[in-house]
Amino acid sequence: MASAELIEVMKRVWGYSTYLPLQEEAMAEVLEERDSLVVLPTGGGKSLCFQAPAVLLEGMTLVISPLISLMKDQVDSLNAVGVTARCIHSGLTPEERRETNEAVRSGAVRLLYVAPERVVMPNFMDYLRERGVASIVIDEAHCVSHWGHDFRPEYRALSRLRDVFPNVGVHCYTATATPQVRDDIAQSLNLRKPRVLIGSPDRPNLVFSAERREDELAQVLGVVARHPGESGIVYCITRKKVDSLCNELRASGHAALPYHAGMSDADRKANQEAFSRDETEIIVATVAFGMGIDKPDVRFVIHTGMPKSVEHYQQESGRAGRDGLEAECRLLYSGGDYGLWQRLMGDQEGEAAEIARKKLNDMYGYCTGVECRHQVLMKYFGESLGKDNCEACDLCLGVGDFVEDALIIAQKIISGVVRLEGVAGPTYTALVLTGSKEERVVSKGHDQLSTWNVLGENSKENVRDWIEQLVSQAYLDKVGEYNILNVTPSGMAVLRGDETPRMLRPFEKTSKRRREKASAIEGKSWEGVDRELFDALRALRKGIAQENNAPAFTIFGDAALRDMARRKPTTPGEFLEVRGVGEKKCVDFAHLFLPVIEEHT
Ligand code: ADP
Repeated sequence: MASAELIEVMKRVWGYSTYLPLQEEAMAEVLEERDSLVVLPTGGGKSLCFQAPAVLLEGMTLVISPLISLMKDQVDSLNAVGVTARCIHSGLTPEERRETNEAVRSGAVRLLYVAPERVVMPNFMDYLRERGVASIVIDEAHCVSHWGHDFRPEYRALSRLRDVFPNVGVHCYTATATPQVRDDIAQSLNLRKPRVLIGSPDRPNLVFSAERREDELAQVLGVVARHPGESGIVYCITRKKVDSLCNELRASGHAALPYHAGMSDADRKANQEAFSRDETEIIVATVAFGMGIDKPDVRFVIHTGMPKSVEHYQQESGRAGRDGLEAECRLLYSGGDYGLWQRLMGDQEGEAAEIARKKLNDMYGYCTGVECRHQVLMKYFGESLGKDNCEACDLCLGVGDFVEDALIIAQKIISGVVRLEGVAGPTYTALVLTGSKEERVVSKGHDQLSTWNVLGENSKENVRDWIEQLVSQAYLDKVGEYNILNVTPSGMAVLRGDETPRMLRPFEKTSKRRREKASAIEGKSWEGVDRELFDALRALRKGIAQENNAPAFTIFGDAALRDMARRKPTTPGEFLEVRGVGEKKCVDFAHLFLPVIEEHT
């Protein structure tokens, strides 16, 4: 069967007429009841891989998911498109529990969501055995592995499902895909020759940029201003910073709420809910704000400080743009952040310290680097972007301009490193090159070097950035605990004038140009969209969501609203053609949306 029926279900229920990459293959595995392990990035459409087949399978699909909030969102979204779903968790009232049991018994439930610790309780296994299970889904499957970033011991017990249901296909989904984690998932869960499907980890809709932190509030407001009325997350390293920045944003007239581990559970929950219901635009948070957020229309994520690893950055910035529409990921950094993390990691020793330092250096390399940011992220995870220009980062968009006399500047820096070879790290080298008279420079006689003050007209932060840019292009190398700089063979080629590095113009001079360029993805996703109508539809959606006490995205996603504001349907039949409008939503909402569209046009 497969293809034709699946497409029919996708269209009728969800309003989608094409697959995202690997969805078709993943769905086929579910229908054929073979085990599978599917690795797709956030926003890659993992849920539909098991939800669409669940509509066609005879019997109930069991979904294991780590967090109640994630389960609830999925269950709400499914019921909203007319697929009967339920979840069982500790927060249910006796009445809800009874209703759920009844629905399961009657055979109406297509998908049952359960937390891992509950599913392996002997009673619950008996319950499932009696009811029968057609397919088993393990979502966020990396939680099974020590090597992943969210290890949950209760996930390891899930292998028991295999013993109890030897003939039912087990399907695992995750966005984290190191080979180690992958093998660990397959082994720990006793998967039987699983079909492994791995998508590209790139998120082409995320527009990345990084800049030195100069005037933090102004820089944050600059990004916020590009996203009026849209949802965003601002990450800060400390709780104190969260509170102060949140107050400043509010004082500037923005709806912002804080989130950090120092707040009470109730306050945190209330703020998270306000965010998911669009009652606040901005959440200012420490990294405590994370898992459990699957709000699909987060349009920007700003980091006001550098995370300690690229893994952390990828995860946190990755909370933007889950709906596949463009989203902005801006990172503000300073050399001080590097020092801060180094101090925080101070008591680590041996191999752990070595690894932590390497991760920190890689992260700093991302900040100061001059190579396409999508490419750097891909390379970090052992992949390649496969194109030269991503059209979705500050460097490829040419927002961060390159200096014209890069060769001369690089030669001055590299000569400086040669004079100091073996004794100085980047900060100290920058001091000497910019003519510092600090005691430590003078006492070592480094103010007598011919390279002292050769870049005196530049700030030491700027020169420090250029040094990092040379490191990221492998013209210089940092070694040991103190990041002592050495010149590499290709650095020597620069001295000879045989190679020219890429060096960015300092941030101050380019800041005006930054705001002018839009990414290709942004242009494409707004093509033909009547923005005023889109705003009107968004306001309508917010009203409906508040009335129904539900997150706005369970009514329609932004992609669907944009398509409405593009096609401007006038009849229910045309409304059904909109991407993301299935039959139930057409019946439930066409009569509310069509008049607004008509009024507007
Ligand atoms: P993931 O779990 O991989 O992060 P989701 O399942 O949340 O991704 O899907 C991301 C977004 O893509 C959702 O808004 C979803 O409705 C949408 N989506 C999924 N499949 C399709 C499809 N075939 N066509 C269009 N949109 C899709």
